[in-house]
Amino acid sequence: MITAIVGANWGDEGKGKITDMLAQQSDIVIRFQGGANAGHTIVNDYGKFALHTLPSGVFSQKTTNIIGNGVALNIPTLFKELNEVTSQNVPTPKLMISDRAQIVMPYHVLFDQYEEERLGKASFGSTKSGIAPFYSDKYAKTGFQVQELFDEEYLKEKLERVCEQKNVLLKYFYKKPELDLNELFETLMEYREMVAPYAADVSLYLDEAVKAGRDILLEGQLGSLKDPDHGIYPMVTSSSTLAAYGAIGAGLPPYEIKRIVTVCKAYSSAVGAGAFVSEIFDEPADELRRRGGDGGEYGATTGRPRRMGWFDCIASKYGCRMQGTTDVAFTVLDVLGYLDKIPVCVGYELDGEIITDFPTTRKLERCKPVLETLDGWKCDIRGIRNYDELPENCKKYIDFVEQHIGYPITMVSNGPRREDIIERTPKI
Ligand code: GDP
Repeated sequence: MITAIVGANWGDEGKGKITDMLAQQSDIVIRFQGGANAGHTIVNDYGKFALHTLPSGVFSQKTTNIIGNGVALNIPTLFKELNEVTSQNVPTPKLMISDRAQIVMPYHVLFDQYEEERLGKASFGSTKSGIAPFYSDKYAKTGFQVQELFDEEYLKEKLERVCEQKNVLLKYFYKKPELDLNELFETLMEYREMVAPYAADVSLYLDEAVKAGRDILLEGQLGSLKDPDHGIYPMVTSSSTLAAYGAIGAGLPPYEIKRIVTVCKAYSSAVGAGAFVSEIFDEPADELRRRGGDGGEYGATTGRPRRMGWFDCIASKYGCRMQGTTDVAFTVLDVLGYLDKIPVCVGYELDGEIITDFPTTRKLERCKPVLETLDGWKCDIRGIRNYDELPENCKKYIDFVEQHIGYPITMVSNGPRREDIIERTPKI
């Protein structure tokens, strides 16, 4: 069976942990979109890891880990990460890279930096890992697939054409040093050597795996609200964050994705710019940030403090709907144990009216949160394994959220570790 794990919100919902947990029972784990611009934090018996490119199945010996064609493949970053993992005593994982995956070129990273510099205050808050220039080139058909590395003559010729165009921009628009063709070619030859042992026809491999009834996990990055079509455009990422894209970014039949686990965090956090209706500031935000996640809400890739907010039923309901959710994994609930009262955003006020469906971005920017306040449970719920043992107010919070988002919460996560998970029978 194929399961997709995706985010309902702005990312950082705890997908890494849920994937790590489900990866234990999976034969194959696939990354199908995004690049090294976001990260999962995983805590397990080997230690604590921030994965940016490697699939979360790398800790399980029986799992084949796949970088799908939809990923922005940063080759040096991938191999650096692989070394980090194996240097912490994790056995060398099984890894396969799609020969159709495209490569993040060194100049993509440069263009990302130069453009953010140029935009100044109007910048996107990009992680400057080259993702937007990478996907621009992919769709402008000037990108490089892994398979192209193996034809030197063709590669040189194409590189020359691409550099010609890039250098005009670099010289006259950004006023930065031009690209050196030979140097770039050498870099690509080094990349080739690194990926050659892993490059394969992934969709063919998966076709056989599906026919053989293997358990396959599609691992999404970021969340619904960062999707370029359905998210808060233009403050989005450059590849689709939706489960549906798993079929394309891995090369699988869409109807084979039977289970869509949407990870939804018990409060909100976001990185980068963009409307964030339930955002909070000052001391309440600082406290939630400090207590949040596992050791605070700071970006796994950048270390940037995340923007914080109360749980947003409107954004989460929309996020779950766009994913095609079959199961909600409700995470990081333990963090809220310190609050006497817990505000929840149950509607948006837009131009004097209350709405409960997530609007388009220009309208979203005018929305104010409508909050309802629930009683806190005022204790530490970590270590609880049985749903019935959760405090009454904690269960009420979960029921309330489930009612408002309208999707079944089947898992509750109450700690960063793999075993900190509680199964729940949904009420809807
Ligand atoms: P991802 O990108 O969706 O995988 O999310 P991140 O890994 O960036 O952020 C989730 C953070 O929360 C990580 O530090 C996790 O270790 C941590 N985490 C995940 N689930 C839980 C949970 O239920 N409770 C707590 N306290 N931390 C969690």
